[in-house]
Amino acid sequence: MRFSIAIKNGLILTMDKENRVIQNGFLGISADKISYIGEEPEDFFSDEIIDANEGIVLPGLVNAHTHIPMSLLRGIAEDISLKQWLEEYIFPIEKKLNSELVYIGALLSCAEMIMSGTTTFCDMYFFEDEVAKAAKEAGMRCLISEGLFDFPSPNYGSNIEDGYRYTRWLIEKWKDDPLVNVAVGPHTPYTCSEEILRKSKEIAEEYNVPIIIHLAETKAEVQQIKERYGKTPTQYLNDLKLLSPHLIAAHCVHLSKKDMELIKENNVKVVHNPECNMKLASGISPVPEMLSMGICVSLGTDGSASNNNLDLFQEMDTAAKLHKISKMDPSVMDAITVVKMATIYGAEALGMEKSIGSLEVGKKADVIILDTNKPHLTPLYNPFYSIVYSAVGADVAYSIINGKVVMRKRELVTLDVERIIKDAKQWAAQIRAWLS
Ligand SMILES: [Zn+2]
Repeated sequence: MRFSIAIKNGLILTMDKENRVIQNGFLGISADKISYIGEEPEDFFSDEIIDANEGIVLPGLVNAHTHIPMSLLRGIAEDISLKQWLEEYIFPIEKKLNSELVYIGALLSCAEMIMSGTTTFCDMYFFEDEVAKAAKEAGMRCLISEGLFDFPSPNYGSNIEDGYRYTRWLIEKWKDDPLVNVAVGPHTPYTCSEEILRKSKEIAEEYNVPIIIHLAETKAEVQQIKERYGKTPTQYLNDLKLLSPHLIAAHCVHLSKKDMELIKENNVKVVHNPECNMKLASGISPVPEMLSMGICVSLGTDGSASNNNLDLFQEMDTAAKLHKISKMDPSVMDAITVVKMATIYGAEALGMEKSIGSLEVGKKADVIILDTNKPHLTPLYNPFYSIVYSAVGADVAYSIINGKVVMRKRELVTLDVERIIKDAKQWAAQIRAWLS
């Protein structure tokens, strides 16, 4: 047998339908795909052999909702109301955004994501072509969308037609890329006119790409939409025929029973962002209820300015604990379910479950290896418990995306992290000057 990369001596969590776990397992990669999983073959040749050293081998994590250039706004202002935070800090800065700032912020986030086990992310922001370029440089898989709304955009200006044109151009530009995928990104039901929502659906159907939206994040949003249209945001989107298996809805915090039924009926994909919801005091999404209804609920961090990092290991830990305390029941959101949310359910949310999200022969080789030879990961009775309740992003030793090693023994292969940090610090000084 011949491989380009062989991983041996690993505790492999396949996250496949049977949830197979392979002790002392071997995973072979040929070009961009997984070509072998099982016991170590007696005879094989590989260009690179990685000794997992009894560490955990699992599918690369999927961050199903983020705004990665916002890493440059991390910690700009904290512990104030959402209204004050947006009006006094975020919006004034976003008015001055430019492509270079977005690019550096995106690179900084790509470095952070690779170093904490994320191999695929789903993004909405401005100047998204720069996000695509950064992802490409990092060797990361992504689904990106240009944020569309009623207000002037720092990228396409005040004519929404230019926003549609930019979206079409992005889709065309990246349509044959192996890593970069493009979606349509109407921001929210309350910041987008009916016209933008209808047009987004039209473009998404024309190109057969997903739609990314924020939905029912706050009580205020639900109130506003009810006053405007006499129905909940979910019912409003349903009446506009936006609910579909290709709709990726972030947050879904304030849902009625009927809203959840509509989400289920239309197979809408939900993204849970527990840390952001807690930090902004938005509320607790009914995730256990949605999961028990069979709704696909994935996991996201949201932007770094409201989290304040992109570490999905921390997000898994928080997701599990938030719902346990909320229900006063330690059995809800068990560890296996939470790991699924960050892997196979994330892939499903992005429409990529046939190619990523689990370790199976024939799937794309997006693989991470955790170094478990650490005090806080010893002993290791159950790998799922260790991942959700003990591990942190910094435990990821190797990351492989599309069959290429992007981090080896915690050294980034594709990105110059020192230069990126230096550039990011320079932009932070500029941002501080804008606010003064
Ligand atoms: Zn968001």
